[in-house]
Amino acid sequence: MRRKLIAGNWKMNKTLSEAHELLLSISNNINSDILKNVDVLVCPPFISLSIANFILKDSLINIGGQNIYQENEGAYTGEISAKLLTSVGCKYVIVGHSERRQYFFETNETVNLKVKRALENNLKPIVCVGETLKQREEEKHFKIIKEQVSSCLKEINSDDIINVVIAYEPVWAIGTGKTASPEQANEMHIYIRNVIGNLFNKSAVEKIIILYGGSMNDKNAKVLLHMSDIDGGLIGGASLKSESFINIINSAL
Ligand code: PEP
Repeated sequence: MRRKLIAGNWKMNKTLSEAHELLLSISNNINSDILKNVDVLVCPPFISLSIANFILKDSLINIGGQNIYQENEGAYTGEISAKLLTSVGCKYVIVGHSERRQYFFETNETVNLKVKRALENNLKPIVCVGETLKQREEEKHFKIIKEQVSSCLKEINSDDIINVVIAYEPVWAIGTGKTASPEQANEMHIYIRNVIGNLFNKSAVEKIIILYGGSMNDKNAKVLLHMSDIDGGLIGGASLKSESFINIINSAL
C-alpha cells in the first residue's frame, strides 16, 4: 500500500513574513494524526526554507525546494544545489516543472542530470512530466510522457528508483482552473507505472509514488486522490492558503 503524498508548490509567492504566517497556520491547524498516514510537503521559495525548517522541525511536515542546479557547488551565480538544499533540511526537490521547461528552457537531459544529483544528495526528486493541450489534441500524449519519463530517468539505478516521485502535470491544467478528469489522470498514471515497470523492476512499479498536479483544489481533490493509481497531489494555487491546503490533505485518506 503506497502512502499518499500531498505537496505544495508555492512557486514565486509569499514574502518572508507571509511565508512565516502561512507555515504557522499550516502547522497549527493540521490534524497531527493525519501526518501518521499522509506525507505532507511544502516547497516555499528558497529564501523561506530556513524559517520553514525552523518552524516545522518538530512536525512531520517535510520541506523541499522548487528547483536545483545540477552541480553541487562552484561559480554558478544565482543557482542553488542539492547539497545546499539538504543543508537547510530539505528532503525533496521539484525538478522539470513545466514552468521551468517553458521559461528557463529546461530539457529532459538537464532534468536527468538534476535527478541524479538530487539522489546522490539524499534528496527525493519530484520529476514533473506533462503534455501540452496541442499534444493531447493530436493524441501524442502517451508518446510524449513515455519520452519524458524515460529520458528524465535515464541511467538511474534500480535501487534508487523508489526514491523518485513522478508528478503527472498536464500543462493545460496548470494554473488554468481546468483539471484532468479523474479517469484521464488515472489512465495516464497507470501508463506511467507501466513505463517504469519496463524500465526498472516489478517492485518499483508497486512502490513508486505518482502525483497528479493541475488545478487540484479542495473541491476536486477527494475524487482524484481516490483513484487507483493517483498517490497524491502537487498543488500550486490551492497550497497558498492553509485552509484549502489542509482540506486537500484531509481528503487524501
Ligand atoms: C503546479 O504548479 O505544480 C500546479 C499544479 O499548479 P496549480 O495547482 O496552480 O495548477
